Order: sequence, then C-alpha cells, then structure tokens
Amino acid sequence: MSWLGLRPSGRTWRAPDADLYKKASKALPNYWLLQLRKTIHTKSRIHLRGQLPHPIVMAANSSRLNRTIGKNWLAVGDAAITFDPLSAQGVHKALDSGLRAAQSIEAHLSGDDFALQGYARDVDHRFRSYLQVRQAYYIQEKRWPDSTFWQRRKRSEIQRTQSD
Ligand SMILES: Cc1cc2nc3c(=O)[nH]c(=O)nc-3n(C[C@H](O)[C@H](O)[C@H](O)COP(=O)(O)OP(=O)(O)OC[C@H]3O[C@@H](n4cnc5c(N)ncnc54)[C@H](O)[C@@H]3O)c2cc1C
Repeated sequence: MSWLGLRPSGRTWRAPDADLYKKASKALPNYWLLQLRKTIHTKSRIHLRGQLPHPIVMAANSSRLNRTIGKNWLAVGDAAITFDPLSAQGVHKALDSGLRAAQSIEAHLSGDDFALQGYARDVDHRFRSYLQVRQAYYIQEKRWPDSTFWQRRKRSEIQRTQSD
C-alpha cells in the first residue's frame, strides 16, 4: 500500500513504510511499475508513456516534533505533526494548527507568558488523541492478515498496550 504524488518534474511516492519501499525499489528497478500495474483506480489515472521516471520515496508516517516551541518560534502544520495518509487529515489539521498558532502568538505578544507552552501542550494532546483514533481504525481492519503493512500496524498496537 502506498500513496503516489505527481510532480511536474517526476513522481514522488509517499509511503507510510518508506524503509521497506526504499529497499524494494533499490533491489528491483521496475518495482514501482509492477506495483502500479496491480492497482485498479490509480492505474486508470496514470497514463505512462514508456518507463516510470525514477521515483523519489518519502516517508509519510505519523510523527511529532520533539519540541514544538522555542525562543521566538513555534512549529505549525506538518512541521509540528504529520498524519497517516489514511486519515486524510493533513490539510485540515494544518489549517487548524495555523489558526491556533496565530492565537497563541497574539496572546504571547499581548503579555501571556504561558501562551506558547499552552500551544505546545495542545499539540501534544491532539497528537495523542489522533494516535488513539488511528489505532481504533487499524484494529478494525482484518482483511489482509498476511500483509506486512497491516502486520506492522497490529504490532505497534501490541507495543503500545504493553507500554500503557
Ligand atoms: C503526495 C501527498 C498527498 C497528500 N494527500 C493529502 C490528502 O489527500 N488530504 C490531506 O488532508 N492531506 C494530504 N497530504 C498532506 C498535506 O499536503 C499536508 O499535511 C499539508 O499540506 C501540510 O500543510 P503545511 O502548511 O503544514 O505544510 P506544506 O503544505 O508542506 O507547506 C509548507 C511550505 O513551506 C515552504 N517552505 C519550506 N521550507 C521553507 C523555508 N525555509 N523558507 C520558506 N518556505 C519554506 C514549502 O515550500 C511549502 O510551500 C498529502 C501530502 C502529500 C505529499
């Protein structure tokens, strides 16, 4: 499972398991073409003439910056948190994050010494909530027990439960 982003200069694959895809694409030059041929809807949207241009593989996993604020800066949108492409929340969350950041900056400049810390706490809280919702969706998926993608998602749930 992967996500394809098209760029004028070439093609970018956005992959939640970028480590696996990087290895696979190195081992097999036509890997991406073979994967594309297995699809139904994506294939119908892409009309290739000749070879697939060499793809750039980018990680697209969920992530959070360790520190989301500092002296005279705060991280907003994808710079602070990234979301699993399955959630399709990146744009909405980035806009929301921008609005919250603006409010925090305004409060900070108006003399609220804790405004930025409040922003950082809010980012942390939102990311934790997102992880819980994401896991609830992952658990519901039972169709592909042999897929590496889904096995990895189940494993992360087991690790999370053990560390709770
Ligand atoms: C292939 C692909 C498909 C996606 N599909 C979806 C989807 O279907 N739904 C969804 O909700 N989300 C999707 N996303 C995620 C979504 O695009 C991002 O979550 C969202 O755009 C984040 O917004 P942002 O403003 O934080 O960052 P960005 O949109 O990345 O904007 C950051 C901007 O800052 C600029 N910049 C970077 N460094 C500097 C610098 N030093 N100085 C000045 N400018 C700089 C960049 O050029 C960029 O324009 C997708 C992402 C990709 C890559």
